[in-house]
Amino acid sequence: MALLKCLEDFVPSPNNVYNEEEMREINVKILAERGVSIDDIAYLSYWAQSKYLDALTIEEMKESVLEILGKRDQFHALLLAIEIDVLVEKGLLDNPLQKILRDDLGLFGIDEAIAISIAGNYGTIGVTNFGNMDVNKPGKISILQNDKQHCNCFLDDMVGAIAAVAAIRVAQRHAIAKATGQLDI
Ligand code: MG
Repeated sequence: MALLKCLEDFVPSPNNVYNEEEMREINVKILAERGVSIDDIAYLSYWAQSKYLDALTIEEMKESVLEILGKRDQFHALLLAIEIDVLVEKGLLDNPLQKILRDDLGLFGIDEAIAISIAGNYGTIGVTNFGNMDVNKPGKISILQNDKQHCNCFLDDMVGAIAAVAAIRVAQRHAIAKATGQLDI
């Protein structure tokens, strides 16, 4: 039986390779099942970037988040992150790891390590953006971390990393548009 309801009838591809639309659709579904919307992530991206860019819109950030959710590294990282959280929630890991993750031990750090591995996909400023969110915990990140009904040990960092990548992608596009008059990233 599938851990996630939205994947109950999922038929895997024989070669395990999914196209962008399929990865995006699965990502959106698994995030929604874990209580995270595209708007939630777009607002975090906006929080990270709005002080640097005039005329930035939430719509632009939503489009960027959806674009990022179609990328393979993000797809694999998010699948892994959410599966681990759900396994912990169901008590299916062995101790000491089960209790370390259930208690979201601050010294653990592998959740942040996976998030950092994707945060820099559009440039190292994405890692800085992620670090800023990890320290200040705006919006949904803080809600996920304070949710004691669920294990969001990996998810809170993934949400921050996806928001960071989406934000830096928009920043790169604005910089290119300003320099060349084209949006071609
Ligand atoms: Mg965490």
